[in-house]
Amino acid sequence: MITRQPTSDERAFLDALLSRSFDGVEALRIQWADALVRSSCECGCGSIGFVFDGEVSPSAASSPLPVEGEILDDDGEVVGGIIVLLRDGVLDDVDVHSFTDGPLPFPTLASIRWSE
Ligand SMILES: [Zn+2]
Repeated sequence: MITRQPTSDERAFLDALLSRSFDGVEALRIQWADALVRSSCECGCGSIGFVFDGEVSPSAASSPLPVEGEILDDDGEVVGGIIVLLRDGVLDDVDVHSFTDGPLPFPTLASIRWSE
C-alpha cells in the first residue's frame, strides 16, 4: 500500500470532524496535523489508514470516535456510513462502509450527515 498525503475530501472530512468538541479531540488534532494516509481496504472502497512517522501522543477519545457520519446519495438517501477508529489512542482507520451493492469511494463533505 502506498503512503500518501490525504486527498482534499479526506482532509475536509477529518478537519470537519476534529473541529467538533469531544473528549480527547485536542490530541487528535495534533496527530492529524502530522498524518499521512494509505488505502486500508482491498475491496475498492474509500477506507484509509493513518500512517505516522515518529512519536505520537495518544488521545483519551473513545473508539470509534463519538462523531460518525452517514453518507447520502444525490437524493438524500443514506447509502453508507463513515467512522473513525483509534488504536491505543492513535488515529488508525477511517472506515467507509456501504449499505448498498458495491463499495463507496471516500465521500465528499457535502454528502455527509453527522450523527453523534
Ligand atoms: Zn473496503
